[in-house]
Order: sequence, then structure tokens, then C-alpha cells
Amino acid sequence: MSPIARDLIQTEMSLGAHNYQPIDVMLSRGEGVWLWDIDGNRYLDCLSAYSAVNQGHCHPRIMEAMVEQAKKLTLTSRAFRNDQLALFYEEIAHLTGSHKVLPMNSGAEAVESAVKAVRKWGYEVKGVPDGEAEIIVASNNFHGRTLGIVGFSTDPVARGGFGPFAPGFRVVKFGDIAAFEAALSPNTVGFLVEPIQGEAGVIIPPEGYFKRVRALCTEHNVTLILDEIQTGLGRTGKMLAEEHEGIEADVTLVGKALSGGFYPVSAVLSNTEVLGVLKPGQHGSTFGGNPLACAVARMALKVLVEEGMVENAAEQGAYFIAGLEQIRSNAVKEVRGRGLMLAVELHPEAGGARRYCQALKQRGILCKDTHEHSIRIAPPLVITRSEVDWVLERFGKVLTELA
Ligand SMILES: *Cc1c(COP(=O)(O)O)cnc(C)c1O
Repeated sequence: MSPIARDLIQTEMSLGAHNYQPIDVMLSRGEGVWLWDIDGNRYLDCLSAYSAVNQGHCHPRIMEAMVEQAKKLTLTSRAFRNDQLALFYEEIAHLTGSHKVLPMNSGAEAVESAVKAVRKWGYEVKGVPDGEAEIIVASNNFHGRTLGIVGFSTDPVARGGFGPFAPGFRVVKFGDIAAFEAALSPNTVGFLVEPIQGEAGVIIPPEGYFKRVRALCTEHNVTLILDEIQTGLGRTGKMLAEEHEGIEADVTLVGKALSGGFYPVSAVLSNTEVLGVLKPGQHGSTFGGNPLACAVARMALKVLVEEGMVENAAEQGAYFIAGLEQIRSNAVKEVRGRGLMLAVELHPEAGGARRYCQALKQRGILCKDTHEHSIRIAPPLVITRSEVDWVLERFGKVLTELA
């Protein structure tokens, strides 16, 4: 590493809060699936900023839309109207089959907004007694970092030391339909859940789980809130991961790739009833729905569709997972994934995933270890077959040599 990179790390360490422990690679440029550090070394990005850059780094058409809009108008606040908002609504509603849209910025804000809307729906439409609304969530969930959200996390690292927390949440085991059914009460207003748990290590629920969840939600008049902030917008080889399950959520949360990594843009998508309870003044955001965000999101969605990225995720994902399964290594316990949302779980004796991520970095691949023993793989959806081969070859070497 160059002295400049070392100096920058030193400054970060002395001035910044230490709430992250990044892999020491000082990136300064990106294009498509590739990243370069300040010393000119090239890496293939297998994290995609936690799936925020599904469209690839610095996608030229999104960049152009952003620059063009930045020259015209960036922010008005929602006190006035802007000429991009309606077009954004129209396009995202059409693409996702939604009836109503609430634009926000970060993913966590979309989650918080959905919790507020669903509780209000519970009181005003379902008739739950005031202050009694309950929302069911899954064990090992990840929905963001705000106080409301970490309060119903089951990860001691995420919640420890941050209480007291808001009441009104009930945790059930992810993938366990009996546990979900048992947790339902007349005061249940929603079930907030990820279609595939990303941060937990790419955990896919048992076949048929979501079909039963959907049926029970309908039967008990409970809104199904799918957090597709990571799984949505092509990552799993479908526009929304719910399509794999053959179901439709009542409320869908998207973020991350909604801007292709240029800008924080998120949205709550719902049927009319749930978002319909929000009246003027009851919810808002200074930046939510601003013209720059809308212009960027519109192009981020457009390129996903026009450039066939969703189909490519399905195709390259299937090829990638098959290739990972071919690797013979004593270190590998399991390979799992859907589309380009993949994970290699290592045996506990393998010595931790971090070691493997460091070795992959030396060979030009940037991956993220998760929960100690899993390597998460999520390249931009523009990855080509020969690039997948390139990654597989290096994975094979690292997984066998380090084992
Ligand atoms: C990243 C993520 C969030 C939070 O998004 P932020 O933009 O970091 O607030 C919420 N839910 C899921 C499933 C995520 O992956």
C-alpha cells in the first residue's frame, strides 16, 4: 500500500467514528464491475455496495441524467411541486405493479415510514385499539440502523447499548410458518420480513413458506411488508424477489439500487389502502422525492430494464452458483443463493471468512465476509460470463489453497 493510502487510513482512524472495520483498500475509481485503488490496482467488485450498484459503477446513462438534472433543479422540498416526481411515480408503479408510492431517501427511512403507515392503517382501517398495534418481524432480520429498527433486531451487536426501545414488535423464527401463525393476534397489523435474508448470510426460506405467509396475512387482515431493499431491482434474477414465491406483498420497500449507487433514494410501494392513511403533515422528508433523486431513480430503473440486467442476473447467477458448486474444497460447507445474491458458507474450522476475503483481495476480487463464516458474493448485474469465469478461477484457488 502506498504512503498516501496509509496516511488517509491514519486520518480516518484518528478523526472518524470507528463504526466500520473496512478491508484496507483505498478505492478511487469505478466502472461497471471494476474498481481501482489509488495505486492503480484493479478489482472486480463482488459486493456492489450491498447491492446499491446493481447497474454497475458510474453507469454512464445514470451519470448523465444526474448531471443534467443537477444543472436544472436539485431540491424544492415538498412544499412545492417539481416536474420529475409524477414521472418517477408513474414509472416505478408501472414496473413494480404498485398503486401508491412514498419517496424517501435511505432504506431505513423507508422501513420506518412503512411501520408508521401500517400502524396508522391498523388503527384507522383495521380497528385495532389505540396504542396496541403489533408488528411481527423475523429473527436475524436486517432492516437498517435507526433506533426504531435496531429495537426489533435480534443481533446483540446491532442493538446492544442503544435501548430503551419502542414496544409493539414481536419476533418469530424466520422460515417457520407455525411460529408465525402462533404470533398472530387480533392486534397484528403487519409482518415485516426480507424475502431472502441478506445480512444474515443470504438465507433462503423453505419452499412454500411465503405462500403460507401470504395466505395467513390475507386471512387475518395483516399487511405483508416485504423489505426488498437488497433483494429487489434485479438482484435475485427477478425485478422483485417476491416473484420467485409467486406472491404479492401489500407493502414493498425498495432502496439501494433504486439510484444505481449515485444518491440515497428509497420508496415505500403499497396498495392504496395502506399509504392512503397518510394525510398532509403526518409524514415527510426534506429530501424525499426531490427532482435530482427522481431523475436519477428514473434512469436507474430504465437501464435495469432496457439493458437486460434482470435477465442477466438470472443467467449469470445460475452459471456462477453452478461454478461455485464445482469447487472441491474442505473449507466449503455450503453454497447458496438466487440470481446474483450468493454466499459461500465455510466450515467453522476453516478459520473465518475474513481471511478468505483478504486472500481474494490479493487476487483482485473484493468480497465481504458476513457473520464470521460466510463469504457474500453480489457483483453488479452487468457482469459477463467471462468475468464470472475470471472470478471462479480465483475463488477456486483461494478456497483450495487456504483450506
Ligand atoms: C441495506 C438494507 C436496509 C437499510 O438501508 P440503508 O439505506 O442502509 O438505511 C434495510 N433493509 C435491508 C434488507 C437492507 O439490505
